[in-house]
Amino acid sequence: MRVLITGGAGFIGSHLAEALLERGDSVYVIDDLSTGSLDNIAHLRSHPNFGVAVETILNETVMDRLVSECDVIFHLAAAVGVELIVHDPVGTIETNILGTHAVLKLANRYLRRVLIASTSEIYGKSNKVPFAEDDDRILGPTSRSRWSYADSKAIDEYLAFAYHKQKNLQVTVARLFNTVGPRQTGRWGMVIPRMVRQALTGQPLTVYGDGQQIRSFTFVKDTVRALMGLMDSPNTVGEIYNVGSQNSISIADLAKRIKEMTGSNSEIVFIPYEEAYEKGFEDMRVRIPDLSKIHAAIGYEPAYTLDDILREVINYFKEHPEAV
Ligand code: UDP
Repeated sequence: MRVLITGGAGFIGSHLAEALLERGDSVYVIDDLSTGSLDNIAHLRSHPNFGVAVETILNETVMDRLVSECDVIFHLAAAVGVELIVHDPVGTIETNILGTHAVLKLANRYLRRVLIASTSEIYGKSNKVPFAEDDDRILGPTSRSRWSYADSKAIDEYLAFAYHKQKNLQVTVARLFNTVGPRQTGRWGMVIPRMVRQALTGQPLTVYGDGQQIRSFTFVKDTVRALMGLMDSPNTVGEIYNVGSQNSISIADLAKRIKEMTGSNSEIVFIPYEEAYEKGFEDMRVRIPDLSKIHAAIGYEPAYTLDDILREVINYFKEHPEAV
C-alpha cells in the first residue's frame, strides 16, 4: 500500500511511518516542520520506500500530487500542544481547519480513504468518567484560547462526517488521548517529556495548578497500532473512535513517580495555571477514555503500563541529553 502521512515528521507521525515501512508499505510524508523535525525521521531517510516533502499541507499543488499518488492518507498534521495553542491561536485555528479541509477536498477528488487524527480535547471540561464517543462536549468561553483547539478539531470532525455523508468519502476519525514516547518534545507543554527532562537535569518538576488533575497516558506504539488497525478495517468507515489507555494518574503523583524512577533530587514545585499559561486559563480535571468501541471494532487493547512508558521516555532522554 502507498501511504501518505501528513505531519509525518512529528512525534506520532514518525512512529507511524516506521511501523508502516516495517510491514512493507511505501510511505510518503509531508510536514512543514512547525513542530515536527527531520531528526525524527532521519533513520528512515535511506529506506527505498520512504519519501518526504518539507511543505505545508496548504500548498495545493504539492498536496494534489501526493494525494493522487497514494492509496490512503493518515492526516496527522495539526497545531498541537496547549502551550503552543495559547500562544499562537491564529496558527492553531488556520492550520487545523484549513489544513483538514484541504486534505478532505483532495481525498474526495481522488477517492482516497482518510483517517483524521482528532483529540480528547474535544470533550472539554465535562466531568464524565470515562469519555465515550457520543458524549456531550462542554467547552469554556471563546475568550479562552485553549478551547480554540477543541473547537477547531470539532470543525474537522464535522467536515469529515459531512464529506462521508454527502459525498460518500471513506473517512474514520481517531480521538487521541495523551500520547507519550521517545521523540516527543516537552517544548509545547507536554507534561511527561518536560518532567522527565527536569528530573534528569536537576531542575524542579513543575506541577501546574493543584496537581489533582488526572490524565491517562498511552504509549505511542499502542497509539500507532490502533491507528493502523482502524485504517485496515472496512468496518470503521464513517465512525469516531477513542484511542488511548486507562493508565490514569494525577499530575502530582506523576511528578512523584518520575522523581522515584529517575532517582532525582529535584524538588517538586506547584505553579499556578495563570503563570504557566495565561490569565483565566481553564484545565480539565479528569480525562480517561472509554475504549469499548475501539475494542469491539478491532480488538484494540493497550499493552504498555504507565511505568513501561516512563521507563522508555527516561531511557530516551538519557540517550539523547540534547533533546528538549
Ligand atoms: N502540566 C504540568 N506541568 C508541566 C506541563 C503540564 O503540571 O510542566 C499539566 C497540564 O496543566 C495538564 C497535564 O499536566 O493538566 C497534562 O498536560 P499536557 O500538556 O501534557 O496535556 P493536556 O492534557 O493538557 O493536553
